[in-house]
Amino acid sequence: DVPHFVQRNLDNHQSRNRLAIENDHITRHYGISWVLKHDWYHVLLGWNTFYSIVFLLALWTFWIIMFAVFYQTIDRSSPEKDCGLGIKGNPIEFHGAFAFSLETCTTVGYALPSGTNALFVNCPGLQLAIYLQMVWSMLFNALILAFFFARLGRCDARGTQSLFSNKAIIEEKGGKWLFHARVYDFDSAKPLIEAHVRLYTAKWNNYNRPKDRGEQPSLWQTTRVLSPSDGLGSVLYTSIPTCVTHHIDAYSPLSPPLAQKSAGVVPGHGLVLREADSDTFNRDGYCCPVCGETYASLENLKRHINYTKLYKKKDKTPIEGSHQDETIVTPELTNKFVMSEDELRESLKDKEVILVVEGMEPLVSGTFQALQSYTAEDV
Ligand SMILES: [Zn+2]
Repeated sequence: DVPHFVQRNLDNHQSRNRLAIENDHITRHYGISWVLKHDWYHVLLGWNTFYSIVFLLALWTFWIIMFAVFYQTIDRSSPEKDCGLGIKGNPIEFHGAFAFSLETCTTVGYALPSGTNALFVNCPGLQLAIYLQMVWSMLFNALILAFFFARLGRCDARGTQSLFSNKAIIEEKGGKWLFHARVYDFDSAKPLIEAHVRLYTAKWNNYNRPKDRGEQPSLWQTTRVLSPSDGLGSVLYTSIPTCVTHHIDAYSPLSPPLAQKSAGVVPGHGLVLREADSDTFNRDGYCCPVCGETYASLENLKRHINYTKLYKKKDKTPIEGSHQDETIVTPELTNKFVMSEDELRESLKDKEVILVVEGMEPLVSGTFQALQSYTAEDV
């Protein structure tokens, strides 16, 4: 059983669009305080709305109480001086200081508890405390406005309206193996803007082998999209149920490694290639090992070898090192990429195909992501 990055934890086989990844190492070495220090706003935005409102109200109330304590302390520090808070010789009580602090914070009119204009004349210390509370209050109001705007207008939940088929299909068509999954938007009357799809394959077999060699393991592998072609940005119109197709070719992370090795295609050198690009003459996918000429299709390479063999025979060119040399032009050279259904089933066992649909929500222009996952049993 392979671990699932994307869990299908919503009804109707959909996912909550959260990856099952924990940053164990980072949390242990940097601690949560590191991220709070550098990006506290987005940590706060990520909290549940209810908890964040409770937290912000608690913070607001805490500072009102703190300022109430300051006012009480200031008033008590010189009981004989009339600042208009308490009566001369009788400093303000806590509940009075709290009401004054609340009044200052919310700027609801202005009345001094012991109504004189002493505040404006006598007490610079008290004026400083009022000034600081008003600065704090202004900044806090700005924060709470920004927070509510961002939290209520956020679009990450919009992804739940992007629906994916429960099962993916693999069909063999004209000698090609195609992987299909379907995407459809629930709110199809209000089309998404610039929706597009990406595919990844998580491969668990041999995950540790590159690590043992001191190389970077590539657990997630980019998987090319044949339709809607990733060459054109794999853009989707999700208001109509749309098939997302991947060609399981000699370069696909889904195909069995043995079948990949026996195919006569050029190596990818770390790039993720598609056979379809050479099939349509956009790129040469086959190379003649004798003269170095490259060809887009296997048929063209075969024609080249057969034709060159014919006239080299007529020219009486020495066999060694020529197109007639069977140690160079081996029969495997013109092997097509072939695999059986059983090989493909075996190859899918350690894999999870992950579909990522991204789009823009038309009302507030926020971007979002929707995820779905297919393992061998979902195909
Ligand atoms: Zn040649």
